[in-house]
Amino acid sequence: METYTPEEQVALAPYFTNLDGPVFALVNLPEVVKGALFARYSRSPKSLRRLFLDEFLEQASAGGPPSIGTARAERLYERVFSEYGDDSVAQLGGVHLACEGASNILTKVLEWGRLMAYLEQSTRYIPYTDRPGGRWRYHVPAELEGHPLRPRYVETLDRAFETYVRWIEPLRAHWTARLPRPSGTSDTAWSSTIRAKALDSLRGLLPAATRSSVGIFGTGQGYEALLLRMRRHPLAEVRDYADRMMVELRKVIPAFLQRVDRPDRGGVWSDYLDEARRTTAQLAERLLVGLEPEPRSEVTLTDFDPDGEIKVVAAALYASSRLPDDQLLAIARKLGPEERNQVLEAYAGKRTNRRHKPGRAFERTAYRFDVLGDYGAFRDLQRHRLLTLEWQPLTTRHGWVFSEEIETVGALPDWRRVMDDAAGLYEALVAAGFSEVAQYAVTMAYRMRYYMELNAREAMHMIELRTSPQGHPAYRRICQAMHRLIAGQAGHRAIAAAMTFADLSDAEEGRLSAERAAEKRRSGG
Ligand SMILES: Cc1cc2nc3c(=O)[nH]c(=O)nc-3n(C[C@H](O)[C@H](O)[C@H](O)COP(=O)(O)OP(=O)(O)OC[C@H]3O[C@@H](n4cnc5c(N)ncnc54)[C@H](O)[C@@H]3O)c2cc1C
Repeated sequence: METYTPEEQVALAPYFTNLDGPVFALVNLPEVVKGALFARYSRSPKSLRRLFLDEFLEQASAGGPPSIGTARAERLYERVFSEYGDDSVAQLGGVHLACEGASNILTKVLEWGRLMAYLEQSTRYIPYTDRPGGRWRYHVPAELEGHPLRPRYVETLDRAFETYVRWIEPLRAHWTARLPRPSGTSDTAWSSTIRAKALDSLRGLLPAATRSSVGIFGTGQGYEALLLRMRRHPLAEVRDYADRMMVELRKVIPAFLQRVDRPDRGGVWSDYLDEARRTTAQLAERLLVGLEPEPRSEVTLTDFDPDGEIKVVAAALYASSRLPDDQLLAIARKLGPEERNQVLEAYAGKRTNRRHKPGRAFERTAYRFDVLGDYGAFRDLQRHRLLTLEWQPLTTRHGWVFSEEIETVGALPDWRRVMDDAAGLYEALVAAGFSEVAQYAVTMAYRMRYYMELNAREAMHMIELRTSPQGHPAYRRICQAMHRLIAGQAGHRAIAAAMTFADLSDAEEGRLSAERAAEKRRSGG
């Protein structure tokens, strides 16, 4: 290992978690310096700590402490990233960025990218009962400023929030009476379960304009892609947040975002995305004019490979053999069902919890599902990144859903009124030429259409996670249907059987047992 003089050790110590091992972390350094240091690996035989001493630590002229050479790092970025177009360096620095007060429409724009990490306020644990500044927590689109429909928008959304708040207590009472409180459940676990159930029941009343907070952790590259999309978005709110994000990100990673707003770089890039989107929309309008959607179930399996299971068997054998891919496929075809099952069982292994996942052979076959489900469930399922998911604009034209307890407590007439008002407002906005803005008025109980195309490995992850009893009943139902279709319609029984943690029950008390388990963990019990 390289050694350092005592002076060098003093200079290095604040920035590296050790000075004598081959594995170390970089701390207390600007993102651009960390990125530039890594970027130097590609052209320098020196160790990282030596590079830091030689190239990035600048000696103070008047005997003061040395400083970090960010200017040099920025120049390196300018050259490698902007001039050579080596985008890998844009992945070498990251930012935690908070986006507060974002409508639910905007949250989905923010959460579109696959390569970032997100954490969003939960509609299950945060009741939307407060009125900061005297206003319910929803976004009023700037597009409606001064327009005669604005007062109707505010009135309609106010009423939706008032209805939501009014029914929280009756639903709490309903769930308290309905769910037996098992002995040994603390007051905290019990009240948290009951409140979550009540809020789950009511979230369908919340409009897409409801404001939320999203925490994002991503690399410069992830942010660049996001901003390029946001800057030409048809909604003013999205463009406004793009501007704000640029300002804040430039305070932390300016070197990573040089291209975004340069007219000849990011400008033409955003124009390209925007033009392709608009041209396709115009063409679709012309080609599909007058066509009405045919009726479909909530979940339809629209594409799968009848040979999928055989292909997974071949892929499972691949890494343990020396044979070519196509030869293995021919062999897998000749195996009997018992042998194939043996291979799949061995490959899936003895899973003792859902995090024990079989390997990439399960990525050899895929499923495409078209879903016509409520917007609330979509919000949750959209968070999965290792799949292809696209959705159609929110509308009130696919009808709405409600759960049994809404009728039981007598809330259905109010529920219907909120839905009817939302539909009326939506149609009025569309008629006035605000078809993008009209989406803000759509409440979470309204159905929307989206597809999810995913391989069997991601299907296992998503189905097992999203059927767990503590999940929302709406997405549990969708994922249970996906599981049934994989086993039944696709005939991939062994793949479905490998999803041993898919919970196909309609257990009411699931969340309670999860809360109890969480509490036990917290108390170290
Ligand atoms: C009961 C429940 C409550 C929830 N509550 C909240 C909540 O309050 N707020 C909230 O924001 N979310 C909540 N979620 C959503 C959850 O946090 C995840 O966002 C969601 O499950 C999708 O992400 P994923 O990592 O599970 O899977 P996917 O995105 O489908 O990814 C599959 C796997 O790929 C890997 N992976 C994917 N992307 C990355 C990446 N960028 N970096 C590293 N590895 C990656 C991980 O191994 C991951 O498990 C909740 C989910 C459940 C089931």
